[in-house]
Amino acid sequence: MTTIEGIDPQAVPSGTGCADCLAGDGPGWWVHLRRCAQCGRIGCCDSSPSQHASAHARTPGHQILRSFEPGEDWFWNAATQEYLDGPALAPPLAHPADQPAPGPAGKVPADWRQQIN
Ligand SMILES: [Zn+2]
Ligand SMILES: [Zn+2]
Repeated sequence: MTTIEGIDPQAVPSGTGCADCLAGDGPGWWVHLRRCAQCGRIGCCDSSPSQHASAHARTPGHQILRSFEPGEDWFWNAATQEYLDGPALAPPLAHPADQPAPGPAGKVPADWRQQIN
């Protein structure tokens, strides 16, 4: 099997929401979720106020992001700004279907559409 630098198929997701938002960094809500393909850390997308996934992707060796949204299976290389194909990753492949986007429930401001990037 081909090994792609920045992808560890065995790494499990850190949780069901952005690890940094849930830890209290920033306003604490996100639009969509991304998964670090190397270590499984869940972060928030670039539309989100804190853009934690892209911040994490600047860590050397952690440049490949995978969508953590239900029904999405794309990989994105943040270093080269290119989509790529990758192997099957350890489940779960997305946040729970009943978890809202934007999320998490109760943290999203009513005017979130005005606050996204
Ligand atoms: Zn976040
Ligand atoms: Zn990572």
